[in-house]
Amino acid sequence: MLFKQITEDKRGRKYVVDEHLKICSKCGRGWENVNKRIYHIAHIIYPLGAIPAIGKKKIPCPQCR
Ligand SMILES: [Zn+2]
Repeated sequence: MLFKQITEDKRGRKYVVDEHLKICSKCGRGWENVNKRIYHIAHIIYPLGAIPAIGKKKIPCPQCR
């Protein structure tokens, strides 16, 4: 959860965009790579629906790759 920024869509709604957050194009869950030295895991996969897909890159998560 680094480098957060707020962005607005065409209707003026604001979203938090996290450069590190991606949406899996296969299972649809949000996920991000994390610092293994801090988290002791290489990535976090969030439950389906926990992360809004808008503004996120669509990249298959490590479990679907
Ligand atoms: Zn996936």
